[in-house]
Amino acid sequence: MNLPSQPILLTPGPLTTSERTRQAMLRDWGSWDGDFNQITARVRQQTLRIVHGEDTHECVPLQGSGTFSVEAAIGTLVPRDGHVLIPNNGAYCQRIAKICRALARRHQTLDYPEDTQVKAADVDRALAADPSITHVALVHCETGAGVLNPLHEIAMVVAKHGRSLIIDAMSSFGAIDIDARQTPFDAVVAASGKCLEGVPGMGFVIIRRSTLEQCEGNSPSLAMDLYDQWVYMNRTTQWRFTPPTHVVAALDQAIAQYMEEGGLEARGARYASNCRALIEGMAVLGFRTFLDPAIQAPIIVTFHAPDDPNYDFKTFYTEVKKRGYILYPGKLTQVETFRVGCIGHFGDSGIPGAVAAIADTLKAMGIKQVSAKALA
Ligand SMILES: *Cc1c(COP(=O)(O)O)cnc(C)c1O
Repeated sequence: MNLPSQPILLTPGPLTTSERTRQAMLRDWGSWDGDFNQITARVRQQTLRIVHGEDTHECVPLQGSGTFSVEAAIGTLVPRDGHVLIPNNGAYCQRIAKICRALARRHQTLDYPEDTQVKAADVDRALAADPSITHVALVHCETGAGVLNPLHEIAMVVAKHGRSLIIDAMSSFGAIDIDARQTPFDAVVAASGKCLEGVPGMGFVIIRRSTLEQCEGNSPSLAMDLYDQWVYMNRTTQWRFTPPTHVVAALDQAIAQYMEEGGLEARGARYASNCRALIEGMAVLGFRTFLDPAIQAPIIVTFHAPDDPNYDFKTFYTEVKKRGYILYPGKLTQVETFRVGCIGHFGDSGIPGAVAAIADTLKAMGIKQVSAKALA
């Protein structure tokens, strides 16, 4: 087997980036430099364009991993006397509840099992029952198990009740359609190192302009105050504190390639094709998916771990890595699983190659029983 020089990351961020994106980091930029600040401006415009929010929204970038931007969005948008409803079908929803707790923002969860979608009708009922709820914080693609939540239906319900919607679209932004002209939302949060295929290190929050204008003084944090970051950036064209210059330059290059590829439609189609090839290839080996295909997002797939005494994730991971691919552990509490990402810059041979590496690993580990149920 001809091994790639570095393994392909089949993880939902950090992910495999293109040579061109990595090349963009081979240069240092000053934070005051006009050329660098033009790059920042371009990244803000382009990300806004991806959700068709140019007329209504503003893009506010922020240093840090995606969670920093989720926390900044909650802190900036939800006032001290706000009350957040969090539909909860997985780990990233629970993280939002943790953020609310840390920021001392009143909140409640609407709980679902990890293998089901959030239902708009339940959100409707919860909002009708409790007029004190001011915000709904929804995870679009729950990366924990890979569930795609019905964003548009939920957004319509939230708008009908006149509440504010904050979307964690970290693992869907750029690949699954979000259209500000049709789907009402106050904020959508995403990051550099997911479906836009940049490197990790910054997030951005796309916020309705009329909402953002009202957010002065909400944030309990200085560094994570998106209102302040926005005002400062508009006044000076600069980031408020030291920007992650190489990350911004790489994201700019990654977005240029995204547009050249054909934008959201092409990116979404490529990931959907990866996802199909993965599920089909793994099924041949006997692997069952944790989710019903009807609610599976084409971003990351959770598989049941093999039902064999010779299986353990660590060895499996190491053996697959030796063959050139990095997998991801499961994030479920109830059942033993592992996950395989469908996103990142790798060619058509990426997924078949990964499936072949997994097949070879099963043999090397002496695993015969992949799935008791599938064989039954
Ligand atoms: C990746 C991701 C995040 C951010 O996680 P970080 O570890 O901070 O990068 C948040 N929400 C979802 C749904 C994600 O997939």
